[in-house]
Amino acid sequence: MPEHSTYLTSLLEAQKDVELRKIAQKVLDSVRISAYEGQLLYEKASLGFLGLLANYVREKKNGDKVYFNRNIHIEPTNICVYDCKFCSYSRLLKHKEEGWELSENQILDKIRSYQNEPITEVHIVGGVHPKMGLHYFASLIKKVKEIRPDLHVKAFTAVELDYMCRKAKVSYKEGLEILKAHGQDSLPGGGAEIFDETIRKEICADKCTASEWLEIHETAHQLGMPSNATMLYGHLESFAHRIDHMERLRQLQDKTGGFNTFIPLKFRNKGNQMSHLKEVSRIEDLRNYAVSRIFMDNFNHVKAYWPMIGRTTAQMSLNFGVDDVDGTIDDTTKIYSMAGSEEQSPALTTSQLVRLIKEAGRRPIERDTVYNVVKDYSKEEVDLMH
Ligand code: SF4
Repeated sequence: MPEHSTYLTSLLEAQKDVELRKIAQKVLDSVRISAYEGQLLYEKASLGFLGLLANYVREKKNGDKVYFNRNIHIEPTNICVYDCKFCSYSRLLKHKEEGWELSENQILDKIRSYQNEPITEVHIVGGVHPKMGLHYFASLIKKVKEIRPDLHVKAFTAVELDYMCRKAKVSYKEGLEILKAHGQDSLPGGGAEIFDETIRKEICADKCTASEWLEIHETAHQLGMPSNATMLYGHLESFAHRIDHMERLRQLQDKTGGFNTFIPLKFRNKGNQMSHLKEVSRIEDLRNYAVSRIFMDNFNHVKAYWPMIGRTTAQMSLNFGVDDVDGTIDDTTKIYSMAGSEEQSPALTTSQLVRLIKEAGRRPIERDTVYNVVKDYSKEEVDLMH
């Protein structure tokens, strides 16, 4: 853990602004900052100031560990009943020849092909297909578990869950209980986008609302299913909208404690209805990670999703509050490569990921989905020069 006094000295010496100095003092004293103060950080703080403060919080919570896991992504379909303007990935049913629909056998064959691989998680998300419903997915998960009972099944965004529960005419609680009984262990954090109702109406008018998203996650937590939370940033939203989004998550986390990780997701502008918008800079990415880390005091982890921001920015983010870089995803995830990410074929082997973390001077830790340590790679020899 960093020396409090060293941090204080560097932060306070560098910072002439009284309000920012007060915020720094609060953070160093482990006092929660307000929404107003969070917004001030976005508006006034320099990258260096934010980095120091976020790094302090990050090291206090997680030392110099950087977590990753070994997982595979399965995207059953990109056919979707919704038409989110930022989405580069989905196709409407009427254009289904441009999309894909994996059969149950294709999905199960994929799982079988990893039979002897030491993966710990399968992450299943996709478009909201009108014909793939709650009972289809419950049965699919059961079959996945029959093949690999040891795999943690993290599946379905709140948007997919909302649709499948409504279509099956069950409550969120009943739907989640069915999925849990068939083997679903947790929920990913997608579909949150930005909670502000006005912006949500602009960018994804027809899918589940902010309060429905939060209700689904709250229900999952009550049923003992942990989840993650995301925030789509860098499009039409203001700093106030980002803070509002994080404040709603912070409040739910106070209530349930069921979130594992906060994952800021950068808006990418290729191949979607918002391509006229410029993407924010890498500096803004780092500033946003840092403010997230400082503001979300009751979230243990902040993740940089490397297939979305690229591995170099992911490495840099490890000094701006991030302690997790997701996993050794194979090329089955198309969500970000289709949206213009630097990572057109997002696959990293474990040794590449270990190297990436060591190059940033951190300690690579393989984890399972709920952050139990699978293996500590810090003693692994890595030639950082070649
Ligand atoms: S973001 Fe999700 S819900 Fe929206 S169109 Fe894309 S796949 Fe469908």
